[in-house]
Amino acid sequence: APAERRTFRIAAIPADGVGVEVVAAGRAVLDALASASGGAFAFDWTEFPWGCGYYEKTGRMMDDDGLEALRDFDAIYFGAVGWPTVPDHVSLWGLRLRICQNFDQWANVRPVHFHPGVVPPLRKADHTELDWVVVRENSEGEYAGFGGRNLAGRGPGNEVALQTALFTEKGCERIMRFAFDLARTRTRRKVSSVTKSNAQQYGMVLWDEVFARVARDYPDVETESVLVDAMSAKFVLRPEDLSVVVASNLNADILSDLGSALAGSLGLAASANLNPERRFPSMFEPVHGSAPDIAGQGLANPIGAIGSAALMLDHLGLPEEAERLRKAIDATTGAGVLTRDVGGSATTDQVVAGVIERLGL
Ligand code: ATP
Ligand code: MG
Repeated sequence: APAERRTFRIAAIPADGVGVEVVAAGRAVLDALASASGGAFAFDWTEFPWGCGYYEKTGRMMDDDGLEALRDFDAIYFGAVGWPTVPDHVSLWGLRLRICQNFDQWANVRPVHFHPGVVPPLRKADHTELDWVVVRENSEGEYAGFGGRNLAGRGPGNEVALQTALFTEKGCERIMRFAFDLARTRTRRKVSSVTKSNAQQYGMVLWDEVFARVARDYPDVETESVLVDAMSAKFVLRPEDLSVVVASNLNADILSDLGSALAGSLGLAASANLNPERRFPSMFEPVHGSAPDIAGQGLANPIGAIGSAALMLDHLGLPEEAERLRKAIDATTGAGVLTRDVGGSATTDQVVAGVIERLGL
């Protein structure tokens, strides 16, 4: 009997700046992979025109019924949001965070991968051996959105603003179990928990307590608790000691940018916003922003977006194809096909062609 052909329905939201270029790049690679599968699977793309350009025309970052339109897709493939003409908190909350929050994408996975052929800013002889994953709590913590501003009775110059971080036992526990389960799939079974619990004695102490409790269910996984300042130093000085790093929304946001910079460029870093229960679609996007300084010139590094496509393949149940794509990415950078941000002179299109050419390796 002929093998069943699987068609995955993917919503593409390129949004702003280089997001448009890198989403096109990722789509081209995924379609090439599907053709090479001999019909085993295919992607059915629907592109949404949302973003800052859309906002300028309509006053909305996305359609009011946009979440309904996205709900039944198998996954969302996202570019980057933000443009100088729209305030950042408007564009971010109006599109990307709106999707993350409404689709309960509470786990944000950000691998730090050192690509062959890319010379990192800090040279370690064995840097291509380095590989760790930042697991970011993506639904509460410091970005819960609680707080307010108040001038009442105080007068100009004396305004008070509160920004409250929210930590729930359930929220801590689910992200930690996610991190421990991920550690079990890796060569090094270790989870490092990051807090600032010496200075933040409520939320971060709850985090530490839940971590210690969850760890007892995973006796085969090594653990450590590290303060975020010490962890920043560790990223630079002893990264070979890391495998899975679990941290709150803000801490993980900062650490994962540090990780991608250490690996050579923000343009290399991939990420997945997951709804692990699969009640809603998950979203895959490069870590970088819209990069207005290089947008529209064909210079954007598409590796972060293509790596995010590999994470999407894992999520869709195609781990062998994901691995094949990761090998093609490494072979491409290893052959010196690099964009300007990582010291090369290749265009976005040349990197895409390089990856497609190497899919059969
Ligand atoms: P955001 O607020 O959305 O995170 P940002 O302003 O912090 O955005 P980016 O838009 O990511 O940052 O740009 C930061 C720097 O990294 C810029 O100099 C930009 O050119 C560079 N950069 C970002 N993405 C890429 C990419 N894909 N290829 C090459 N350079 C990139
Ligand atoms: Mg940024």
